[in-house]
Amino acid sequence: MADDCLFCRIVNRDIPADVVWESEDVLAFRDISPQAPTHVLVIPKTHLRSLADASDQDGDVLGKVMLAARDVARAEGVGDGFRLVVNTGEDGGQTVFHLHAHVLGGRGLTWPPG
Ligand code: AMP
Ligand code: ZN
Repeated sequence: MADDCLFCRIVNRDIPADVVWESEDVLAFRDISPQAPTHVLVIPKTHLRSLADASDQDGDVLGKVMLAARDVARAEGVGDGFRLVVNTGEDGGQTVFHLHAHVLGGRGLTWPPG
């Protein structure tokens, strides 16, 4: 837990969130500013700043985040077609520095992203 981390505070239920999926290691909740009909954030419950800061030992929890994203997409009815985005670092568009995967779906998604 990082005291100043918004998503750690959501994990600890200090800040409310619309939680849609949860396991021992992973939490998923709706993005407060949705960019698609389905827009859910999937995070490890333990603080990890970004994918750039991940170590080889984080492979297990990162795999769990990916599989949770699959389950969230299925539960949202977009399991056959969705996008998983992990913005990494300031240049990668990351604004909250607790690793998270965006699950986006429910509309036609174009490529490349902006
Ligand atoms: P990123 O730019 O990849 O770091 O994504 C951070 C995301 O967190 C943005 O899409 C925000 O809309 C979202 N966000 C920020 N604060 C909250 C919150 N309190 N609850 C849910 N989502 C949030
Ligand atoms: Zn955190």
